[in-house]
Amino acid sequence: MSTLPADEAAPRTKLTVGIVDEARDGERRVAASPASVRALVAAEHTVIVQSNAGIAAGWPDKEYTDAGAVIAGSTAEVLKQASVLLCVRGSGAGAATWTGVGSSHILAGLLDPLGEPATMKKLAQSGATVFAIDLLPRITRAQPMDVLSSQATVAGYKAVIVAASLSPRLFPMLTYAAGTIPPAKVLVLGAGVAGLQAIATARRLGANVSAYDVRAAVREQIESLGARFVDLADVAAGGEDASGYATGADEAELARQQEALAAEIGGSDVVVTTALVPGQRSPILVTAAAIKAMKPGSVIIDLAAERGGNCEGTVAGKTVEIGAVILVGAENLAATVPQDASQMLGRNLANFVLHIAKEGDINLDGDDPIMQGTLVARDGKVVNERVAGLLDAPAPASSSKASS
Ligand code: NAD
Repeated sequence: MSTLPADEAAPRTKLTVGIVDEARDGERRVAASPASVRALVAAEHTVIVQSNAGIAAGWPDKEYTDAGAVIAGSTAEVLKQASVLLCVRGSGAGAATWTGVGSSHILAGLLDPLGEPATMKKLAQSGATVFAIDLLPRITRAQPMDVLSSQATVAGYKAVIVAASLSPRLFPMLTYAAGTIPPAKVLVLGAGVAGLQAIATARRLGANVSAYDVRAAVREQIESLGARFVDLADVAAGGEDASGYATGADEAELARQQEALAAEIGGSDVVVTTALVPGQRSPILVTAAAIKAMKPGSVIIDLAAERGGNCEGTVAGKTVEIGAVILVGAENLAATVPQDASQMLGRNLANFVLHIAKEGDINLDGDDPIMQGTLVARDGKVVNERVAGLLDAPAPASSSKASS
C-alpha cells in the first residue's frame, strides 16, 4: 500500500466558514470577497454566505457561488451550518445577529475588544471561541492578516477625498491665463498607517502637505512621500513601545504639544487627524482655540472620532460647524469604500482561517503568537488579560467611546 508524503499525511482541519449579512447601521462591508472565498475553497474548506451579504460591496450571490460558496437564506441558517463565523465589526452588529452563536462556533472579526469589553464578556458567555483580529501582533508573519492596516489605509485615503470635496479650495497649484492659484495646505497629525495614506493621497492631488507624529521614526517616511515633517523637537509627548505604537503623553506634555501645533493648524486649509494610542482615549491635538484661529472654510477630518477624537468639539458620526470651520467626526470611513475595503478585509480574514487551520486540530493552547494575541474568549471566559483588566476596572475613562 502506498503512503502519502509526510506533509500531505498530516491531518488538516476542514472547516465550514460562515459569512453573515452585517447588521450594523452604515456597515456596507462584508467579511468575504469572491476572491477570499476562492482561497478558502481551494484549501478544501466549505464556505456558506448569507444571501445578499455582499450586495452593498457590489457582489451579488452569483459571484460567491461562482467562487465555490453555498448561499444560505438567513443568518440562522449560516449559524446552524458554520463552525467558523467571520464578521466585519461583530460587536456592533447587534444582539440579533449573534443570537444562536454558541460553543460550537469560532468567531473572528474586528471586534474592538478594548473599546467594547462588555460585549466580549457577553460573547464569552455564549461559549464561543472568540478571536479579535484587531489585536493581531504587529509582526512580519502576521502582515497578510493585518485588518487594522488594510482598513486604516482605506480610511486615510477617503479622509482626504472627503476633505477635498468639502474644501472651498482646489488642492493642486493651478496656473491659468489670469494668474496662479497656490496649492491647498494640508496638515496630517499622526503618521501611522492611515496618516501615511492620507499624506500620499493629498500629495497625489497636488496639495502642499505637512505632517507630525510623536514617533520621530516616521520622519523619514513622511519626507519620502514628499511632505514636510513638523519638527516639535522641544515637545516630548510620550514615547513608543516595542511594537511601534505610541504610548501616550501626560497632560502637561499634551498641553505643550497643542500649543506648539496651533500655528501649523492655523496656517492649514485642511487638517486630517489620525492620532491613536491603543487602549486609551485618543489625545486632543486640536483645541477649540486652534479651531477658532483657522481660516473660514477650513476643513478638519477627525479619523480618531470613534476613540473620542483628536479635536475639541468632535462628534463621532457627525459633521459640525465651529464658526466657519467644518469638523467631520469621521466614523467607519472604510465602510464608505466597501468593495476594496472588503476585498482587503476578506483576504486578511481568509489568511487568518488558513493560518489557524493549517495543521491538525485548531490548537488554542499552543504558543503561536498570532492565535495567542487575538484569542479573547474560550470556554465561557474572557482570556485576554487586557480585556479582562478593563472588565475588572471601575468605569475605565481610557476606553470610552464618543457617542454619535
Ligand atoms: P495607530 O493607529 O495606533 O496610531 C496612529 C498614529 O498616531 C501613530 O503613528 C502614533 O504614533 C500617532 N500618535 C499617537 N499619539 C500621538 C500624538 N499625541 N501626537 C501625534 N501623533 C500621535 O497606529 P498604526 O497606524 O496602527 O501603526 C502604528 C505602528 O505600527 C507604526 O509604527 C506602523 O509602522 C506599525 N505597523 C507595523 C506592522 C507590522 O509590522 N506588521 C503593521 C502595521 C503597522
